[in-house]
Amino acid sequence: MSVLEAVRPLHGKLAAIRRDLHAHPELAFKEHRTAELVARHLQQLGIETHCGIGGTGVIGVVRGGRGLRAIGLRADMDALAITERNTFAHASTVHGCMHACGHDGHTTMLLGAAEALAARRDFDGTVYLIFQPAEEGEGGAAAMIADGLFERFPMEAVFGMHNWPGMEAGSFAVHSGPVMASADRFDVCFTGVGAHAAMPHLGADPLLAGAAFVQAVQSLVSRRVDPIDAAVVSVTRFHAGEAYNAIPDRAELCGTVRTFSAEVRDMLEQGLRQVAEGVAASHGVQLDFGYRRGYPPTLNTAPEAASCAEAARAVAGAGRVAVDGRPSMGAEDFAYYLEHKPGAYVWIGNGPGAGGCTLHNPNYDFNDEILSVGAAYWCELVRTLLAPAERGRG
Ligand SMILES: [Zn+2]
Ligand SMILES: [Zn+2]
Repeated sequence: MSVLEAVRPLHGKLAAIRRDLHAHPELAFKEHRTAELVARHLQQLGIETHCGIGGTGVIGVVRGGRGLRAIGLRADMDALAITERNTFAHASTVHGCMHACGHDGHTTMLLGAAEALAARRDFDGTVYLIFQPAEEGEGGAAAMIADGLFERFPMEAVFGMHNWPGMEAGSFAVHSGPVMASADRFDVCFTGVGAHAAMPHLGADPLLAGAAFVQAVQSLVSRRVDPIDAAVVSVTRFHAGEAYNAIPDRAELCGTVRTFSAEVRDMLEQGLRQVAEGVAASHGVQLDFGYRRGYPPTLNTAPEAASCAEAARAVAGAGRVAVDGRPSMGAEDFAYYLEHKPGAYVWIGNGPGAGGCTLHNPNYDFNDEILSVGAAYWCELVRTLLAPAERGRG
């Protein structure tokens, strides 16, 4: 019996769990009900369970055979501060909070895998099921790592999966290398001297400095980044002034920087600072510059990505696994795991969905039809990576 056939009977149960999670979303690091549900489910399956890791994180430990190898499979549990517009029965019961990124589905697919792995144990080694808090901007992965994830649960590689609206339901995309970008933030404040708008020579205009900065940073990607590398610098806010007849004394700007490589990231941080300093000097204004690193780029390692593609092909069929797709400039905190361990993060198609069914859209919903496909993929990946030694050979 194929893994998918073995997992399919779980569909009704998984869909019920997924809809329950969808109706009861919780924000980053507040996933108490979700973590309890996960822990209870694992315990009912007889799976060794550890709670409270990195806040609300939960680890399940499933062993097969006597092998010493170990891998980690990760699902995220948090929801978003978005008010759901769906009106179906399982819509969010919490105003201003919804599972608009499908983490309800990710959690459920890993629970499905837990059940099948615990029942089949057709692998040789240890599987750590990682249910992490706070993927949405708060870095729950980093919190789990700081709390000793890899020391307490030593694993040789770690794997993630995210649903992808717009991709055919149950198909896969596996990137060998960059899959998601880094996401950093910068804040720039120019402080000048306010003056009468009719007598600009008596002040120092921070607004003009801000305008010069917005223009000048466009040269970073176009002139300093290798054209073969991808990068984005976007200024997303510019606040200055209040009146028709007064030059303000401050201009505040902020924005985001995205890229796929550590070198480009370092260069852009340094370049932004240089541009801001140069603009401040040439306009005779003071500069406050802040740069905050967010999620690193998510860089899949090639051998692990190849194993993911193999497992995905076994479940979905060769024609439904894309291995040469373009990465996304979005960001993902799975990147933190990949700073410590080899591994890969794949996309599973959520289907086209109804209009506006994109991630972080108030009409988004995870597609229950892919629950068993995702759970089967996890099981197949475990079988691929922790294949039992063949017996009877001599
Ligand atoms: Zn998201
Ligand atoms: Zn997400």
